[in-house]
Amino acid sequence: MPDPCETRNHPAWLTGIKSVRATALALLEWVAPPCCLLCRLEVEYRHGLCQGCWAKLPVNEIHCERCALPMAHKSLCGHCQRCPPVFDSVIAPLRYQDPIDQMLCALKYHQQLSFARTAAGLITDTVRESGEPRPDLLVGVPMTHRAVRKRGLNQAVFLARLIGRQLGIPAKSTLIKKLRETDRQSTLNASKRQRNLKGAFHCKGSLEDKHIALVDDILTTGATANEISKVLKVAGANRVDIWVCARTPEVLR
Ligand SMILES: [Zn+2]
Ligand SMILES: [Zn+2]
Repeated sequence: MPDPCETRNHPAWLTGIKSVRATALALLEWVAPPCCLLCRLEVEYRHGLCQGCWAKLPVNEIHCERCALPMAHKSLCGHCQRCPPVFDSVIAPLRYQDPIDQMLCALKYHQQLSFARTAAGLITDTVRESGEPRPDLLVGVPMTHRAVRKRGLNQAVFLARLIGRQLGIPAKSTLIKKLRETDRQSTLNASKRQRNLKGAFHCKGSLEDKHIALVDDILTTGATANEISKVLKVAGANRVDIWVCARTPEVLR
């Protein structure tokens, strides 16, 4: 699917400049092909990585059928059996371990945006291979305005925009608002966990019969994704998928 921004009608002079730029970039790539974002030694093979680094990615091959938790056998994990999540499915191509943990930290905390291309590429490849119905809208997991100002980037919204362009699906970053700061679920006891996320998110507008994919870099406890899925379904969404680059192993829930 072409980038929607590239399909508009431009004046002839602008189209001319664009084609000169594209030719110059193609020539530059031929003279000096882009190198791997991780090892910086080899030529890029796929989504910013060389063939060797690509082959070492920790693929999340065997996992829970519902929440993509890494497992030894493909089935439903204990948590999904006891308490099925509100979201309908999870796309999580990798397990959260070396080297993807370093790449996602560099993206999130040091604004190394080139790693977003790798993460978005991995997600779109998996979505295409899955053959699942495509959502109507993509939404990045929101942060409060204060947190975005402090960090400088909401990596989930950034990823949602990149994936949306690649798949031709609109990404709407203003659909869900985070109203207040929350603590990390894994640091809290059971009673505090329930209070922590309650009422923290708000959906603007109706989503009658819409299929939504909620995008983030990592899925850890799944509690935030579950809470936002509740809010989306209360607003009328008929299906909510979670799209992340990596899934962490079992954590206390
Ligand atoms: Zn490499
Ligand atoms: Zn599960």
